[in-house]
Amino acid sequence: PGSGPHALLEGLNEPQRQAVTHAGSPLLIVAGAGSGKTRVLTHRIAYLLDERHAHPGEILAITFTNKAAAEMRERVETLVGPRSRVMWVSTFHSACVRILRREAAHLGWKTNFTIYDSDDARRLLSQIVKDAGLDAKKNSPRWLAAEISNLKNELIDPEQAIAKADGAKATLVADIYSQYQQRLRQAEAVDFDDLIVETVHLFRAFPAVAQFYRRRFRHVLVDEYQDTNHAQYMLIRELVGHSGGEVEPAELCVVGDADQSIYAFRGATIRNILEFERDFPDAKCILLEQNYRSTQTILEAANKVIRHNGDRGREKNLWTAQDDGSRILGYAAENEHDEAGWIAKQIDDLTDSGKATFSQMAIFYRTNAQSRAFEEVFVRRGIPYKVVGGVRFYERKEVRDLLAYLKLTVNEDDTVAARRVINVPKRGIGDKAVSCVDVLADRESISFPAALRRVEEAIGVSPRAKGSIQKFNALLSEASALAADHPPEVVLEKIIADTGYLEGLADSRDPRDEGRIENVQELVSVAHEYTERTLANAELASAAERDSLSEDELAALDANSSEIEPTVAGFLEHVALVSDADQVPTAADEGGVVTLMTLHTAKGLEFDAVFLAGLDEGMFPHERSKANQKELEEERRLAYVGLTRARKYLHLTRASTRTIFGRPEFYTPSQFLREIPGELIEWDSPDPLSASKGIGSSALGVKTRTMASFGQPIVMKEPSDVPALDIGDRVSHDKFGLGHVVELKGSGPRAQARIDFGGGEPKWIILRVAPISKL
Ligand code: ATP
Ligand code: MG
Repeated sequence: PGSGPHALLEGLNEPQRQAVTHAGSPLLIVAGAGSGKTRVLTHRIAYLLDERHAHPGEILAITFTNKAAAEMRERVETLVGPRSRVMWVSTFHSACVRILRREAAHLGWKTNFTIYDSDDARRLLSQIVKDAGLDAKKNSPRWLAAEISNLKNELIDPEQAIAKADGAKATLVADIYSQYQQRLRQAEAVDFDDLIVETVHLFRAFPAVAQFYRRRFRHVLVDEYQDTNHAQYMLIRELVGHSGGEVEPAELCVVGDADQSIYAFRGATIRNILEFERDFPDAKCILLEQNYRSTQTILEAANKVIRHNGDRGREKNLWTAQDDGSRILGYAAENEHDEAGWIAKQIDDLTDSGKATFSQMAIFYRTNAQSRAFEEVFVRRGIPYKVVGGVRFYERKEVRDLLAYLKLTVNEDDTVAARRVINVPKRGIGDKAVSCVDVLADRESISFPAALRRVEEAIGVSPRAKGSIQKFNALLSEASALAADHPPEVVLEKIIADTGYLEGLADSRDPRDEGRIENVQELVSVAHEYTERTLANAELASAAERDSLSEDELAALDANSSEIEPTVAGFLEHVALVSDADQVPTAADEGGVVTLMTLHTAKGLEFDAVFLAGLDEGMFPHERSKANQKELEEERRLAYVGLTRARKYLHLTRASTRTIFGRPEFYTPSQFLREIPGELIEWDSPDPLSASKGIGSSALGVKTRTMASFGQPIVMKEPSDVPALDIGDRVSHDKFGLGHVVELKGSGPRAQARIDFGGGEPKWIILRVAPISKL
């Protein structure tokens, strides 16, 4: 080591070096978790720039999240300096947005098309279902969205879907798909899947455009390749081109791990990794077998679990030079509160003994709902934490309202946005006026907002509503004019002022509106930050570009200056592409916090200490997957992802009872626990795998144990301390703050209250357990 031809190759093992220096044919790196795939990708980029004199503009690197992209860019920057700024390191979606904005004219689109997120898409679908007079219960927007997404991921367009529909259900889906696309186009909008599909379509329909990007991107690198779906795979193939084409194919390098493929439900397919070599016959394949992340014990547990899967592709022998490390610590809890309490105690012990900091610890669970129990305990014990996912900032009502206004300033045909805010804040435009405008839109085949602008022609709208609609139109057109040459925070502030949005909230006596004012302020700050960052980046990028670009390249760059100017469209795009995983705190976050997240979000990350909670049949593996071998194998890959995130300390927990919808449910230990060799786990409780054999035969035995669990000191109040509540009572909750009771059920130890804390649905609270008091 250290004798390599280049400093970048130090700290890499032999196959890693080969992967970094390989030139020419496509390169596939398949390797187990923690074997340095992401590290190889980063070093390869640096090597391309430094040793092979590639221009940063020639590199396109695809990562799974925006956050991963930012980290990779940062790492490359420390290796090669600010030149790296002009590189395209992004998610599939961000890269496609950039391409589509630039090439919008080819598709007959406006540059400022709107991106519908999944909530917008579902609203549009429920509108379609309603207009078609279909039963909304049987045809839920969620289900339709998933079906349509599957079709898009397979690059099947509405006509093809109709042609190949082989039953009533498929025909219905195809039909709605077709209407959905029409309405998207009418609203000048695309959904997430369209970003990929339309880029593929663009390249196929306009060979000259494809050539342009093939000439530009001479190196294409893809991380987490196992989770690309068919459409994304075809996009890569289009970008790379083929030999015999006008442009030599780009150098392609993909890294992935078939054992970590966890997005089959989104259309990701292992097929892409298994068949890479078939599609690229001259591809070189490199295996990385040394794991640098985890101790021997952790790695063995993960290897033993994944071995139970049948369909695994290439045989792998992952090993580590590290020693055994600590044994895995297990805890079989009585219930979810006991489980959370035990984990909190371990976290305290780890920090007290200096073994790990808060930011180096994470708790993983299968579904978002499981975070609740942890939050309650952590708040009480003062453990700083952050829940990734759940109800996100950008999903809050007030934030979405204001974003809808912003969307209308860049795309005046955005139907979903217009419907959302036409009467928000209230301005006297009722359902009747709206349906009259709908009739006009239908008659004239124009979008809903276009019909609003022609409200004069609508029949049956009251003069008062008409006046309000005209004011609404005027407000939007002023804001749009401002948006043409002002950054988003300025436009946002005008909208807030002109609509009187804050006054409405401030006058309100509803306690939850207080938090909403803060959210509105936060949104303005986010816009402001976006502007600052864009300006700073643009400055750096142009300095770096000017150092290294030819005259022609500079001219091309300047012609596309929208990318380096803060605009409302740019801000909306930034917001639309933020994903759950982008919220994972970084080590630099002040003080450090413990991260709580679902297993799906944990991909690619690593932590000194990991807690994998809820290892119970029906929780994980998830109930849904139990009947189906394929889905069970996907759950097992998810377990493999979770286990392999840990560097030094791994903890596995389960609970024999959990309160689900206010009722205790019994659970047996997860089969994944059984798949880990017993000697690797040390139980800080009776071993649930041997204990359950003894108790399992007697239903009564289980019951007694469960009743005993209600005596847990951490969470249970004395019956006399349980507050007696009536509907309308005001209460204070240690975590959720002030609220009022809207519904009651149960009595004694089972008493529950549904409490409205503002922001989101009212919550069911079990009074005996909750840190709550009556005001
Ligand atoms: P995953 O499958 O989870 O995405 P990965 O294969 O991408 O993992 P990395 O995240 O790149 O693996 O690397 C895992 C850890 O091992 C990182 O902390 C990385 O810095 C370290 N590592 C990788 N290769 C080496 C090496 N040759 N020497 C020392 N440390 C290494
Ligand atoms: Mg990785």
